[in-house]
Amino acid sequence: MSRIIIIGGGVAGISAAARLAPHAEVTLLEGEDSLAYHASGRSAAMFLRNYGNATIKALNAASADHHHHADGGVLSPRGMMMVASAGHEDAFASDIADLGLDRITIDQAASLWPILNRATITHAAYREDAQDLDTYLLIQNFVRSARANGAQIVTGARVTAIERLATVWRITTADGQTHEGDAVVNAAGAWADPVAKMAGLRPVGIQPYRRSMARIALPPGVSPDDWPFVDGVGESWYCKPDAGALIVSPADEDPAEPQDAWADDMVLAEGLARYQDAVTEPVTRMLANWAGLRSFAPDRTLVIGADTDEATFFWCAGQGGYGFQTAPAASQLLSDLVLGMTPSLDAKTVAALDPRRFT
Ligand SMILES: Cc1cc2nc3c(=O)[nH]c(=O)nc-3n(C[C@H](O)[C@H](O)[C@H](O)COP(=O)(O)OP(=O)(O)OC[C@H]3O[C@@H](n4cnc5c(N)ncnc54)[C@H](O)[C@@H]3O)c2cc1C
Repeated sequence: MSRIIIIGGGVAGISAAARLAPHAEVTLLEGEDSLAYHASGRSAAMFLRNYGNATIKALNAASADHHHHADGGVLSPRGMMMVASAGHEDAFASDIADLGLDRITIDQAASLWPILNRATITHAAYREDAQDLDTYLLIQNFVRSARANGAQIVTGARVTAIERLATVWRITTADGQTHEGDAVVNAAGAWADPVAKMAGLRPVGIQPYRRSMARIALPPGVSPDDWPFVDGVGESWYCKPDAGALIVSPADEDPAEPQDAWADDMVLAEGLARYQDAVTEPVTRMLANWAGLRSFAPDRTLVIGADTDEATFFWCAGQGGYGFQTAPAASQLLSDLVLGMTPSLDAKTVAALDPRRFT
């Protein structure tokens, strides 16, 4: 494949461009005026090694070295705690086993997270090696690498037509420009199925789900900078420090159409109430709120590889809630498959990600 067109300028498309650019002529087309405008600009920016199913965990593990070391690394210490109240013992035991957290005492939990409400929280668990992931830096590193290897990154280039001609793909954007390529990479996030349909191909069933976030103020003199990421049992809410304030998510997962997502007031209020039960400090002031779409395949595993019916159309979709933490390994696999190289990931993981599992 000597000319490759990537559709989508979120972390999926940008990381794919960085991997492919040393080996091919790469053009990335992003419909918005800036990169990472949708899901990739709205995340919680965490690297949680045990978050996701077995295939996601394999991608997380295979991405860790890149996150730690490439270009000086993008991770910084945070820690992860889970809290639960009485009556949720089974869910708590199951969650902490899955996420790899160790039980700690309530005294230990309160020393890590001073706003813990001892009247309501009866169980806590912790793991130290959960990290903040500098999403802006990761994207900039991939952009720099892609450009250094000659990739063309075009913003304001919404793809409106995808045609398979005799020997090439012809892609048309809203401004009437056309681009030709030997292969197409579909990294369109929530729009991955519509983009496949535009190319005359069958969708794989990518479903976007909205996830909201509120940034709340803390009382004067309270500095949260050293607090961990804290998760309510059953992923019922979570929070983490953010530049002197806290971001709190209701951990909502409401199905949505592909769109510029926004937070729903009632969902935010209910989520903040769940968070409020766990803490001693009342929520007094919301500084900002937003929402993004987490787009999942039916089995909640990424979709990476050649389309079932068209060997030169590649999926790089279904990143769900893991698009940043999996990006180094996912983009490497995508690149290996596009270039016809033997994947460095194990065969079981590659098969679990293969779009052909949906046929
Ligand atoms: C609230 C929230 C918290 C999250 N927290 C984390 C976390 O802590 N850690 C983690 O790893 N992940 C997290 N995620 C998930 C992560 O943000 C996503 O998995 C990731 O950003 C998806 O990247 P993407 O490139 O696939 O999609 P996007 O960033 O949405 O990019 C897709 C792009 O394709 C473009 N596009 C679509 N159609 C066209 C077209 N026709 N022509 C041109 N361009 C087109 C869109 O404009 C868009 O920019 C979170 C997500 C949310 C919403």
